Amino acid sequence: MKVLSLYHEMKVGRSPSGEEWGSELKTFKKVYIEITSICNLACSFCPQTKRAKNFIDPDVFNNILDQIKPHTKHIYLHVKGEPLLHPKIDLLLDSAHEKGFKVNITTNGTLLPKTQHKLLGKPALRQMNFSLHSFDGHEGSTDREGYLNNVLTFVREAVKHNVIISFRLWNLTQDNFTNAQMNRNRETLEVLEREFDLDFRIEEKVVPGSGVKIAPNVYLNQDHEFQWPSLDAPEDDGKGFCHALRSQAAVLVDGTVVPCCLDGEGVINLGNVHEKSFSEIVDGERANNLFYGFSKRQAVEELCRKCGYRQRFGA
Ligand code: SF4
Ligand code: SF4
Repeated sequence: MKVLSLYHEMKVGRSPSGEEWGSELKTFKKVYIEITSICNLACSFCPQTKRAKNFIDPDVFNNILDQIKPHTKHIYLHVKGEPLLHPKIDLLLDSAHEKGFKVNITTNGTLLPKTQHKLLGKPALRQMNFSLHSFDGHEGSTDREGYLNNVLTFVREAVKHNVIISFRLWNLTQDNFTNAQMNRNRETLEVLEREFDLDFRIEEKVVPGSGVKIAPNVYLNQDHEFQWPSLDAPEDDGKGFCHALRSQAAVLVDGTVVPCCLDGEGVINLGNVHEKSFSEIVDGERANNLFYGFSKRQAVEELCRKCGYRQRFGA
């Protein structure tokens, strides 16, 4: 900590608008560490990354944990990619626990039969988010009941270890009440209603964008289909706000730091943890321009001016 405070004393400076920057350590509610860029599915709404396919090395993961330790206590093991594909996910969870982190995993859940023994009982594991929309989003999916049963088999054990469960169905569309996807969602929701012995239809309680509690520590969240920000999207005036670098930051599998979990292609490349410390990167010039731009409700990065998330939630 002494070295860090010295570092921060030396780093105090001024933004172009005169605000002091670098005087305080940026702390985040969560940091995303992408442990693999590979996914075993190909959902229609999830563009495959053009970045190199890779898995994080456990030593590199440890090093990143050490670097982000002053900044957060919560990590999420994805940006793109399916975390349960990582062959050493059990070791990664052990390392996270040894270093005092709590871990959230977002997964499509298809690999649980082969991997659940690496997850259950791991003290670092705080929350599992299941992207149930991936079943209908992936063209080759078969056997909905079997898929959901595998997920639920895991969930029954995980809740005994106080793991929080969040089921996600992020595939609502504007004409949701008439389209075929609604019928497919109904099949999924029926399985959950049976499992948790619910005396209501989940659609009656769910508000798009927020969760409904269906059992102790178990939630279901429905929302509209997710759109990854893209440089090919239309640009607007960039007015608005985003919590990137205030509540979150992300490290891609090759060590590139980006401001948010939505920059799946590493467009806003703030620096690489193999070349510079995470602390320096999130307090660097590009990071601070983005940060103080949003203080003035202005998106300075092109990707941010084309980002549906800012347009929807930060306008
Ligand atoms: S949405 Fe999830 S499961 Fe589907 S392709 Fe993307 S990362 Fe894989
Ligand atoms: S506006 Fe969008 S792309 Fe820009 S930092 Fe925020 S979430 Fe990421």
